[in-house]
Amino acid sequence: MRQASENLQKGSPTTAALTWLLWQWGKQVHSWNEIFELETQISDWKIRVDKDLSPAWKKGADMSLKGILSANPPVTNIESWNALLKQYDEYWMQLAYAQAALAAAQGEIPVGAIIVSQNQIIGQGFNAPISLNDPTAHAEIVALRDACQNIQNYRLPDDAVLYVTLEPCTMCVGALVHSRVSRVVFGAFEAKAGSLVSARQLFETGYYNHVFSFEAGCMQQQCSEQLSAFFKLRREQKRQLRLQEKLLNTQK
Ligand SMILES: [Zn+2]
Repeated sequence: MRQASENLQKGSPTTAALTWLLWQWGKQVHSWNEIFELETQISDWKIRVDKDLSPAWKKGADMSLKGILSANPPVTNIESWNALLKQYDEYWMQLAYAQAALAAAQGEIPVGAIIVSQNQIIGQGFNAPISLNDPTAHAEIVALRDACQNIQNYRLPDDAVLYVTLEPCTMCVGALVHSRVSRVVFGAFEAKAGSLVSARQLFETGYYNHVFSFEAGCMQQQCSEQLSAFFKLRREQKRQLRLQEKLLNTQK
C-alpha cells in the first residue's frame, strides 16, 4: 500500500503502477475488500494507464485496467481476479515456452525464461550449457545476465517477474535471490532437482535474507510435454545411431 500511494504522488503511475498492481494483487491481496480499496485509489488514472500500454501487452489479453474492470466474465471476487492473473501469467509463459523451443532446436534440453518489468521483456534466454561450454548456462541464468546487461544494473527492478518453463534448481534459486527478483512463475515441476517445491524447499530453510514469491505449474502440461517430446526424440535418435553402427559392423 505504501508503494501505491508513492506512485500516485509522483503522478506517473502508467504501466509501472499497473504492473506493480498486478504483482501486488497476485502476491499479497487476500480479500476482495483490499482489491476494492486499491481500485478506489487508482480510479483517477484509469485513462492514463490505458494509453501507455506496450505493444507486447496489447497483443495479449486485454489486461489494461479498463480490461480488468470490464473483463468477461467480470472480476467480482477474488476467484475471478485470480483467473485474470492466471491469464496474465500464461501470456508471458508462452514467450518463455518459445525460448525453450529455441533450446530444443539446438539440441539442448528445452527450458526457456523471460524477465518482465513494466510490461516489457527486459531479458530472455534458453538453456544452453553444451553450446556455450558453460555448466551455469541454465535458462534462468542466461535471462538474468541478459536483463542485467540491458538495464546496466546488478539487480533487477522492484517489479521484475521471471517466467521459466521448468522449476529452478539450487543454483538458479541462489542466483535469483541475488538478483532480487520479486516473483517467479514456473511451468513444469522438476522432481529430482526442483528446489522450490519438488526435491527440496530452499526457502523453508530460513537461510536467505531475501525471498521471492513464486507460482508453480503455469502452463504445466505444455511445458512438461515439451520436455518429454524432446527426450523421446533424443532416445529415438540414439536408437537410430546404434542401429546404423550395428549395420556398419555387420558389413565389415
Ligand atoms: Zn538451474
